Amino acid sequence: MTDVMLREAAERRARILAAIASAARSARRDPSDVTLIAISKTRSVEQIEPLIVAGQRDFGESRVQETQAKWPALRDRYPDLRLHLIGRLQSNKATEAVDLFDTIHSVDRLSLLDALANAAIKANRFPSVYVQVNIGDERQKGGIGLADLPAFIDQVRATPLALAGLMAIPPLGPEPGPYFALLAKLARRHGATGLSMGMSSDYSAAVMLGATAVRVGTAMFEDANA
Ligand SMILES: *Cc1c(COP(=O)(O)O)cnc(C)c1O
Repeated sequence: MTDVMLREAAERRARILAAIASAARSARRDPSDVTLIAISKTRSVEQIEPLIVAGQRDFGESRVQETQAKWPALRDRYPDLRLHLIGRLQSNKATEAVDLFDTIHSVDRLSLLDALANAAIKANRFPSVYVQVNIGDERQKGGIGLADLPAFIDQVRATPLALAGLMAIPPLGPEPGPYFALLAKLARRHGATGLSMGMSSDYSAAVMLGATAVRVGTAMFEDANA
């Protein structure tokens, strides 16, 4: 880690935290109610560590295998890190996921929920889970359909896994605001407190509309004017 890498990582993170705080205040929210998750998929340990040194503690990965390769050594050195799984998870990876992650943002079907609950009981380790919602009703996308959401939330609440809230990735293209607002409305309706929404291009809008966790990759790792 060179001084330049450390300084640039700290500056990028500080700029994003300032933008989050400004968006929160404009919506009369407390900035400390928003967790900035640095999405580190495809980034190397050498790129990640300067952000940890700058104070970043929440990181998100999309693949179990990549996480196993990158994070155990960092976890040993920085025991207070929190790891989030944001990608599609196969049920046969539930044991590994329970072992690796503190929070899982992509729970969207009963077979996966059951596999995670069973793995958690066996390991006596209980990650909290977000229910991923297919908010734009897109055929290709992960996430539970809107019609199935109420029953699925009840099913999550019947497991020993804590419901962290709802998560969504809005469709590419249209303004994301209406989708963020819809996810917030669904969370209120179902008494779910957490809202995992907003990425590099739209996290300010997400915070204004109630996000409690933003998932920021590119803007955390790349200089906007590079
Ligand atoms: C990659 C990814 C992100 C981060 O995207 P950026 O545009 O790089 O900030 C956020 N959420 C999910 C689910 C992702 O897969």
